[in-house]
Amino acid sequence: MASQIEYKFFEAVEKSFDKAAKFTNLDPGVLEQIKQCNSVYRMFFPVKIGDKIEVIKAYRVQHSHHKSPCKGGIRFSLSVNLDEVMALAALMTYKCAIVNVPFGGAKGGITIDPKKYTPYELEKITRRYTSELIKKNFIGPGIDVPAPDYGTGEREMAWILDTYMSMRPGEVDAMGCVTGKPVSQGGVRGRKEATGLGVFYGIREVCNMEDIMTKLNLQTGIEGKTVVVQGLGNVGYHAAKFFREGGAKVIALAEFEGAITHPEGLNEEEVFQHRKKTGSILDFPGATNIVKSTEALELQCDILIPAALENVINGENAPRIKAQIIGEAANGPLTPDADEIFIKRGILVVPDMYLNAGGVTVSYFEWLKNLSHVRYGRMEKRFTENMNSHILGQIEDLTGKKVSAKEKQFIMHGADEVDLVYSGLEETMTAATREIMDCWNKNPEIPDMRTAAYVVAISKVGTAYSELGIFP
Ligand code: GLU
Repeated sequence: MASQIEYKFFEAVEKSFDKAAKFTNLDPGVLEQIKQCNSVYRMFFPVKIGDKIEVIKAYRVQHSHHKSPCKGGIRFSLSVNLDEVMALAALMTYKCAIVNVPFGGAKGGITIDPKKYTPYELEKITRRYTSELIKKNFIGPGIDVPAPDYGTGEREMAWILDTYMSMRPGEVDAMGCVTGKPVSQGGVRGRKEATGLGVFYGIREVCNMEDIMTKLNLQTGIEGKTVVVQGLGNVGYHAAKFFREGGAKVIALAEFEGAITHPEGLNEEEVFQHRKKTGSILDFPGATNIVKSTEALELQCDILIPAALENVINGENAPRIKAQIIGEAANGPLTPDADEIFIKRGILVVPDMYLNAGGVTVSYFEWLKNLSHVRYGRMEKRFTENMNSHILGQIEDLTGKKVSAKEKQFIMHGADEVDLVYSGLEETMTAATREIMDCWNKNPEIPDMRTAAYVVAISKVGTAYSELGIFP
């Protein structure tokens, strides 16, 4: 059994990068340039909280400028530090490359416990952070575009937007300075559930691959598969929802205060409401409590979805994991030691930088919407409906048969914004899965799916750098 080694997060990303780099034929200098974080901005700023002045520590890291703008979330957490922000920024570069989203990677964070502040205080902190970014030219629709991450959501994005717009009056594309905004503030429908939905599409595609399922001794398809989800935040909640709706059984849900399990499956919304009411996930009617939350990771299941924070599965607990597929909905939930153990045990790890790319994919759609200043579907919805109605009328006339009202509604329907966003996301996740699997199949020396995903990502970033003419 491997002993548990403490990795710095950025070091772990570098380790995965090096493991993959040897399967590319890129110049060592190009590889070195890809690996480094290009710009690192650490800031301290004062904010008056009550009658005290608090000095707040925050970061923004731009990992790669091979494409513009840079893109990545902002997290509010006490565990935010430079190493973590650098690692997450690097993952963003690879993530965007894998799903063909034309951005460089970035990440930001503020080292605070958001639960300790009132909404008013959080607004002051967020607005001040935004003005620090503006001062150093670290934000803008063509420069660097933040988004939600752990501890932040639509509300914080709206504050960022408002601060930016008030300091850049008249900038016509200002709306595109941040994504994950409320729909009323230039957000796009479908962004909130995008990461969880992308996790579902990605795992569903993997489960539809017969050869992979045969190797894992599993039936093809999602239907009836048992799933354990760790984390009932935005990503975990929506992943659980889409798995349940897709016919899987979510047999356990875990949060930091404990976990619950039910052999017939749990309904995430009911559990969410129970937790809201009682303050804990435990004691959900009909379910069995698991007081030590981390034990839920070790339950017998087909698919394990860690959707909380990094390093939750490591050299110490990896030998006890019983799932056949681990889908990394969080960023960096497995350490490199855990990876090695799962390779040996033949467990399939579906890597974060691809699997949780649904968020940034739909952020890209939001950014495009903001730059085009028009809602998706606005121009063509009615035209499609009129055309479909006409075609249907002709078919009915020619055949003499009538289509039922329900079928008629389905056939005639012109795409709304959310239809287009979901279909764009489904296509993106499906294509990315195939690209990674193809790369893996073509080179059997590649030890795991994570390395295959890195090979795909590094090759694309390397090509982009070369095409920029930086490395003639
Ligand atoms: N924070 C999310 C991530 O880690 C989304 C980033 C974005 O939309 O820019 O992928």
